[in-house]
Amino acid sequence: MLSVNEAREFILSQFHPVDSTVLPLLESAGRILYEPVTAEIDLPAFDNSSVDGFAVRSTDLDSAGPLTPVILKVIGDVPAGIISGLSVREGESARIMTGAAVPEGADTVVMVEDTDVNIRNAAVPPPSLVTILKKVESGSNIRQRGADVVANQVILPSRHRLKAQDVGLLAMLGIPTVKIFRRPRVAILSSGDELISPETPLTSGKVRDANSYALSILATDAGAEILFLGIAKDNPDSIKKLLDRAFDANVDAIISSAGVSLGAFDFIKGVVETNGALDFWKVDMRPGKPLAFGNYRGIPFFGLPGNPVSAYIGFMVFITPALEKLSGGNSGIRKIQRVKLTEPVYSDGRESYLRAVVTSENNEHFARLTGHQASSNMLSLVHANALLIIPSGVKSVPPGEEIDAWLL
Ligand code: AMP
Ligand code: MG
Repeated sequence: MLSVNEAREFILSQFHPVDSTVLPLLESAGRILYEPVTAEIDLPAFDNSSVDGFAVRSTDLDSAGPLTPVILKVIGDVPAGIISGLSVREGESARIMTGAAVPEGADTVVMVEDTDVNIRNAAVPPPSLVTILKKVESGSNIRQRGADVVANQVILPSRHRLKAQDVGLLAMLGIPTVKIFRRPRVAILSSGDELISPETPLTSGKVRDANSYALSILATDAGAEILFLGIAKDNPDSIKKLLDRAFDANVDAIISSAGVSLGAFDFIKGVVETNGALDFWKVDMRPGKPLAFGNYRGIPFFGLPGNPVSAYIGFMVFITPALEKLSGGNSGIRKIQRVKLTEPVYSDGRESYLRAVVTSENNEHFARLTGHQASSNMLSLVHANALLIIPSGVKSVPPGEEIDAWLL
């Protein structure tokens, strides 16, 4: 039987990132860049003022001070958004607004606050003279062209997941669309004669299908698009019919649950072996030992156990990293926290994933189980915020010991 690690390594080796697609900026958040993005322009694209004030030649102000004011002629107004065409010569200045292009000849901007002008209103025409009460360093209050980004600079690497601020910068750079990895497409089906959909009235012996729903959400969270196939009956024809629909839809992976143990009505294994191959169908873990991986007509195939908790954990351990790799992202990054047990935990020696609640107090982290760990008990998974990982070969861990918790 394969260890969890061996099985995961093998599965990951069978997946490669999908191809690309192009999306407008507003649809690109959360998606993963297919290639690096290079700026074509400088940012800022031109020298501009960072304040409301007066554009000057700094040498005119060498002698300026509170007791030795310098009076400059104001030759005009420079609002934001236009090129003024003004040229500031010795003894001159131009009124300038924040973000406006610094006029020719000026090398410095003096803040309104450092002048005798107290009107900032652009609708009021500038005065004909301005008195400056302070010496300013050359270049003051000017945002230099290229101070933020320079043309030909790589601003984002490939494989980067786009966030709001990235999209804002792309917009500033005049890049309206981005090339990203398309979403992988996965088919999801459940199997079992006892299964019915949530909207079907419950009749005796039937069980509502949890897995199609929970696994679809996990797949979406991992970046995939879903082909929701519903429930296959416990016979080869019904199973084959749904698997062929997945094949026809040209999905990147097929995920089924149940029907892979050794029960008399477990047909999934047989159908996949006849129309493809199984690489393995058991992994040394708990819950979730019957876990099949192979291909159906060439499409990667996962056969998860039927019990909803086993299916969920099998998905988290093996399929989430595979889908992340398919999506072009980093795969298999888990939030792991060392936690102190407040009660003993037991395993049968297989690598075990136990449902638990982790709490934190003064930087110390504690874990307790959420109750009975039967793999059919969904509520104890719902109440958990972590899975405690008991390594292979360990049969019990006493209270007070520290182990790894995988935060959900
Ligand atoms: P199996 O692997 O087919 O033997 O199924 C194991 C257990 O999981 C049985 O009790 C099934 O009724 C249950 N089960 C299988 N599939 C689902 C599902 N989609 N939703 C809820 N329970 C399921
Ligand atoms: Mg079954």
